[in-house]
Amino acid sequence: MSTVEKSTYCRICEPMCGLIATVEDGRLVKLRADKEDPHTKGFFCTKGVAMTEVVNDPDRLTTPMKRVGGPGEFVPCSWDEALSDIARRFAKLKKEKGPKSLAVHEGNPPYFSYAAAFWGKNFACALGTPWFYGINSEDGASRVAAFKMLYGHCAHMPIPDIPRTDVLLMLGANPWVSKLSFVHDPRIREHMTGVVERGGRVFVVDPRETQTAKVFTHVPIRAGQDAWFLLSLLHVIIGEGLYDKAFVAQWTTGFDTWAELVKRFPPEATQERTGIAPDTVREVAHAIGRAKRAVVYGRTGTCTQEFGTLTNVLQDFVNIVTGNFQREGGWVWAWSPVETAFLAEKLNFASFGKVRTRVDGLPDAYGFLPSSALPTEILTPGEGQIRGIMMLGSNPVVTGPQGQKLAEALQDLEIFAAMDLYMNETNKYAHYLLPATTMYEREDAPVQFANRYMRPSFRITEKVIEPIGQCREEWEVLNEICKRMGLGGAHMFGVERALAKIGLGMKPHQMADLLIRTGKGGDLFGLRRSGWSWKKYREKAPRGVVFHEKQPIGSVKSVIKTKDRKIAMADPRFLAELERLENAGAENPDFPLRMIGLREMNSHNSWMHNSPRLMPDKRRHHLHLNPDDARELGLAEDDLANLCSEGGAIEVQVTLNPEMIRGTVALPHGWGHAGGWQRANAAGGSTSNFLSSRVEAISGTSVLNGIPVRLEAVAKSADVVAVAENLTETAAEGELAAS
Ligand code: SF4
Repeated sequence: MSTVEKSTYCRICEPMCGLIATVEDGRLVKLRADKEDPHTKGFFCTKGVAMTEVVNDPDRLTTPMKRVGGPGEFVPCSWDEALSDIARRFAKLKKEKGPKSLAVHEGNPPYFSYAAAFWGKNFACALGTPWFYGINSEDGASRVAAFKMLYGHCAHMPIPDIPRTDVLLMLGANPWVSKLSFVHDPRIREHMTGVVERGGRVFVVDPRETQTAKVFTHVPIRAGQDAWFLLSLLHVIIGEGLYDKAFVAQWTTGFDTWAELVKRFPPEATQERTGIAPDTVREVAHAIGRAKRAVVYGRTGTCTQEFGTLTNVLQDFVNIVTGNFQREGGWVWAWSPVETAFLAEKLNFASFGKVRTRVDGLPDAYGFLPSSALPTEILTPGEGQIRGIMMLGSNPVVTGPQGQKLAEALQDLEIFAAMDLYMNETNKYAHYLLPATTMYEREDAPVQFANRYMRPSFRITEKVIEPIGQCREEWEVLNEICKRMGLGGAHMFGVERALAKIGLGMKPHQMADLLIRTGKGGDLFGLRRSGWSWKKYREKAPRGVVFHEKQPIGSVKSVIKTKDRKIAMADPRFLAELERLENAGAENPDFPLRMIGLREMNSHNSWMHNSPRLMPDKRRHHLHLNPDDARELGLAEDDLANLCSEGGAIEVQVTLNPEMIRGTVALPHGWGHAGGWQRANAAGGSTSNFLSSRVEAISGTSVLNGIPVRLEAVAKSADVVAVAENLTETAAEGELAAS
């Protein structure tokens, strides 16, 4: 038996932890943390090491499949048959109904592969369609929209300089479980506890006393009300003169408008909405306003709420007006060894509102159109109606809003091809299912994430094992479909496609190496001897390089990309959102509770639920609610209940959790499986996003947090009770007879 150990890194979530893979006779048998990885220093989580179970899962797709009956009824077919038929049907639609009859949808796992991320976008360009969809609308679209409107760029994004701050205000994020997002920091725990150890403060604003909130100062807030809290924070900071007048004067316009507006929101005026005592608001405002260095950071919880973009803007306003902007301990733009923002521009990712959906006019954000628009776009006749989809590693029926509608719409498509690791609840409606490699069956380099590292770092990985079965990489398959359509290859520009026709098409590896070599950390093809290339990383630093322990801070001017190099605080879109917030009608008494999401340590959206390690037999899906709310509703631990919103209704099993504030319930997303994964199906649970029916106005983000809901015990009707009693009596009689 041959056993080898290889250095690699995890690409499930954003810390991208360094791991050591053990390979026996070509089979991946173990993953463990790599203490010598200079970026992650041995940090890892259970999902990372459980990837061996995904790689070797007998339920995994390892051969191309063709649907021959109803949803999920597939038989194996050859790659040649699948690719030829997909290409033929895409080409037919393109010719007869135009390129806008085609769409591409890309999910989270492939986006962590640089080749899949970029070739997905290239593929849409080669087809000639503007319809490129993704799950950004269930995640950070409002964050991206705020960046674009404030700083003129959405791929050139700031991160919180937590290792050097004195006060951190964190909203809607639980890094003890989620490990942060839009910033790569595997050492976040020590960076956050370090703030307190230096004598600073960390405030965690959340409706639940999360694992992170337990360690620091928890500020409980009513779900979806963060904008009101931030308005009061600004009221105190500006009203008490705790802002940086020089910074505001030099780098912003429209400050006076907000200075006037926030007068309307003293903490006493927002307390009823937020549930936060005025003294607490003032305590947080004074801590930030009087600190030498402070920073506000918010993520999924604040992004995916009814006023997500406004909330993101207000968060940044606190950083801006206090001058904690592009300075140590504040809101800073990370040093990047690779020109990630430039790359995003070239690949059409760095856009917000450049493309809008045909029917509802929803914008793209970071180049992705919102998945909530898909059912309407598929079912509404007219020019540009989507009739064919290529889906890469995604499961929007479970992870997007109103999945039940999408499932119906997908069945109306003329051609639906999907590439994935499993047959899931979405791609079971596909005509063809194509098997994708996992992260350990392909090389990689985090070129798409390089400008968000807390400690600027970079590494590459070679593939750890050969592809299992007939699995292929996405880029190869997309190239092949384009080739068979007569397009040369999946390339963005006509000249590249023409070159591909004569065998000179660029490969992802060449592109990655070019980016590495020409970036700030690159060797400039020999002109910078200390610089790096792919080959040099492989040979000299297979675990990667940390370029800077502390973030180098460039000029303010260099990070504001608006035409006048100023931050337009009084953008009419912000003011319109504020008006919408103030005019939002009274809460609907039919839905007295608010539902939020809950990130579980053993889940990553929907796609890791078939691992025995992550989904042991006893694991259950629960709605978390405060014990006092449960008592009022007549619910006890593990009771079944109906959870209804204006968008739908699902059945849930409840758990009593004192971490929840009263009036707010939390349901983990990504559950309720009915695909080709047996363990995931057997785990039960319900799909939380079936309850989401609203879309945030500016960015098209699905409203997944703060959803108004009603919870009712599942009624035990007199008939049901009688039948149950009858069955018990019959069983007892049977036992007596048997004895
Ligand atoms: S935190 Fe876990 S899932 Fe995320 S990159 Fe690290 S090992 Fe992978």
